Order: sequence, then structure tokens, then C-alpha cells
Amino acid sequence: PPPVVVDEVTFAYPGRPPALIGVSFTAEPRKLTAIVGPSGAGKTTLFSLLQRFYDHQGGRIMLAGDDISRCDRAEVRQRIAYVEQDTPMLAGTFRENLVYAAPGSDPAAIADVLALTGLDRLVQQLPDGLDTPVGVRGVTLSGGERQRLAIARALLRRPQVLLLDEVTAHLDARSEHTLRRTIEAASRECTVLLIAHRLSTVTSAHRLVVLDQGRVRSTGTHAELLATD
Ligand code: ADP
Ligand code: ADP
Repeated sequence: PPPVVVDEVTFAYPGRPPALIGVSFTAEPRKLTAIVGPSGAGKTTLFSLLQRFYDHQGGRIMLAGDDISRCDRAEVRQRIAYVEQDTPMLAGTFRENLVYAAPGSDPAAIADVLALTGLDRLVQQLPDGLDTPVGVRGVTLSGGERQRLAIARALLRRPQVLLLDEVTAHLDARSEHTLRRTIEAASRECTVLLIAHRLSTVTSAHRLVVLDQGRVRSTGTHAELLATD
């Protein structure tokens, strides 16, 4: 079964008009699916439902064939990793920040995620490598480096699905470009769902789902959507 199936999902916050109305889409394994839409479209709400912070009120959400309303919340959050904008760093070493959510990771797994996120070269340049203190008490990482570290940390947990919520917000053009390459690499290893504001910037997504006022307005490849816009 596909890693994520969202099928006619409906959700309203208490006393509010529906935030999601009959939303359906499927994410393909090890591909990048972008959820695009203006502010208020329902993107964040959709990510909240996928993590079971709230329960959807109509329709179904399936994770690799399992109905998430029948899975316990801890299990859902083990299978789905989430990275948002501006990841804070712990007062500790680079290694502690990396293995925070996956203690006991072996060196080969750590080397893999560092290579995938392009952080291997950064770590080589740190005075004590992985054991260099970062954050307030140590070396300052740039915004883009912190976001790549957050993605490496998430991947180390071997999630089935990685949710990325505006992870390139607040970055300069160069850092954003590097981070996009990391996202593309991550999406070859893991199923990635990514929230974006604008269609124009998500050219590398396998499929885009355009949300507007809680409804799916269109789905397709970047080229298909530009042709119908
Ligand atoms: P997006 O992420 O695309 O900007 P949201 O999912 O945040 O959209 O919001 C969808 C709709 O739900 C909006 O009308 C928003 O005002 C409303 N909404 C979001 N969060 C809450 C909340 N906690 N309580 C009530 N309404 C909310
Ligand atoms: P904003 O409108 O907030 O500036 P963008 O539309 O530029 O946001 O991008 C939002 C998200 O889309 C970011 O999280 C970024 O990682 C992702 N993104 C943009 N372009 C690409 C791309 N070519 N490949 C992969 N991800 C992308």
C-alpha cells in the first residue's frame, strides 16, 4: 500500500467553519509530495491530522495500509517525523543534537545521514568533530545548517514519512538552495511531504497538491499545474 493515503478527509476546529473539506491525495513511496497553498488553506491542519494531534472528523487517513485512527498516537509519531522552520539547538554537542531522538544510533547510520544532508564536510571542519559543542555554549551553526541537522536527526529515527513544514523560511538564497538539495536527497530515502507557499519554488516535487480554503484545488506535476493555471 502507499505510504500515505488521505481519503475525503474533513476537519473543523470547534465552533469554526471546516478547515479541511473532502481532502484526498496519495503520496508515493520515496518521493516528494508538496502541499501548496496560501495562508489559511489548511496545510498546517493537515500535518496536525497526519501526526494525530487532532482526529479527523470524516474520511480516512491510511499510513502504509493502517488506518491511523486505529493506531495509537505514540506509534503514529514514531512512524512520522516532523521538521518545522527555525529548529532550536540543544545546549550540547553536535552529536547530542543529532542523536537526540534516536539514542544508540550506530556510527554507520550517523555517517549515512551526515552524508545525505551534506553535513559530513561541516563536521570534519569542527574542532572536535561530532563532539564539538554547538549552540549557545559552542560553535554557531547557520540557519541552513541547523535545518539540515534537524532533517538528519529526523532521518536517523528511520521514519516512514517525513513532514517538512516551511523548512526554508528565513534562509538566504544560497542556504535555501543547499537545503533543497538535502530535501531532494531525503526524498530518495524516505517519503517526504512538504508544505510550501508558492508553486513556483517547488519544481522538484514529484507531485503537488494545491489546497485552497480547505479544499484540494488541483493535483499534478509542476508542469501540469502551470499548464492549467
Ligand atoms: P495554513 O497552514 O495553510 O496557513 P491552517 O491549517 O493553519 O492553514 O488554517 C486553516 C484554517 O483553520 C484557517 O481558517 C485558520 O484560521 C483555522 N485554524 C487553524 N488553527 C486553528 C485553531 N487552533 N483554532 C481554530 N482555528 C484554527
Ligand atoms: P515561501 O513562500 O515561504 O518563501 P517557498 O515556496 O519558497 O516558501 O518554499 C517553501 C518550501 O518549499 C520550503 O520548505 C522549501 O524547502 C520547499 N521547496 C521549495 N522549492 C523546492 C524545490 N525545488 N525542491 C524541494 N523543495 C523545495
